[in-house]
Amino acid sequence: MVAVQTDLHSSKSSRSTTAQTRPFSTAVVRRLWRNKRPYVVLTARVHPGESNASWMMKGSLEFLCSEDPVAEALREVYIFKILPMLNPDGVVNGFSRCGLSGEDLNRQWKKPDPVLSPTIFHAKGLLYFLGSVGRSPLVFCDYHGHSRKKNVFLYGCGVEETPRPPGSAIDGKEDPEDCTIAKALERLAPAFSLSGCRHAAEKWRESTARVVLRREMGVRRSYTMESTYNGCNQGIYKVCCWRSEALQRGRCCCSSLAYWHHWVHPGVSRHLSDSLLLL
Ligand SMILES: [Zn+2]
Repeated sequence: MVAVQTDLHSSKSSRSTTAQTRPFSTAVVRRLWRNKRPYVVLTARVHPGESNASWMMKGSLEFLCSEDPVAEALREVYIFKILPMLNPDGVVNGFSRCGLSGEDLNRQWKKPDPVLSPTIFHAKGLLYFLGSVGRSPLVFCDYHGHSRKKNVFLYGCGVEETPRPPGSAIDGKEDPEDCTIAKALERLAPAFSLSGCRHAAEKWRESTARVVLRREMGVRRSYTMESTYNGCNQGIYKVCCWRSEALQRGRCCCSSLAYWHHWVHPGVSRHLSDSLLLL
């Protein structure tokens, strides 16, 4: 979908295959020096019909691999592991929501089958590996495309999933960790709707990527990002072509990470703080 440069800033590996033996790629966007920068994991297109998610991913990849000062600062602060297409078999075969097995792959994260849902099996394996070496992602975001609602919004996991000491009661308050990234997005992305976000892990979504990552792996900032086929009813993209708008959304999503980082870790990266003056 997008050629990821194999230069100083990125590398690419293809270690797995899909059920139809297509290569299943992971892009790693990083500076090539070793330190303990946290991981940000971005995935997309588990539902083949949601091509708008791929446009957002294209915008994200092009931005992260660019020489934009904010992108450069982000690469200094984080390592990005990116799986731009979780269901290539479904896309090639023209499916709407399923993989080759006829199942919704975003309902297989609890116990993915290595034969029937190999991309989810290997993606989960990668995430478990990161956890096993104490490097669980700081942020996980799975890009989707909504068919009815307008604007861009996040689904989080909600207060019930917030890690707390055993026996302590749920106090009913929203997990502030859940909301900070959404607030950064609202600040930077004109198509983003804070009121459209929902933070809950409903029973029928227990096997989705974001809920499994939160529950099994303790990834506190675990989200589904919904873009839309249905346009925006707010801001400067109200009358725009959805394609250019979606590219811009991908860029804004990543820029907002920089904004969020500056909020929660002020002063940690001078380069990042300086780059935000350009936004
Ligand atoms: Zn979807």
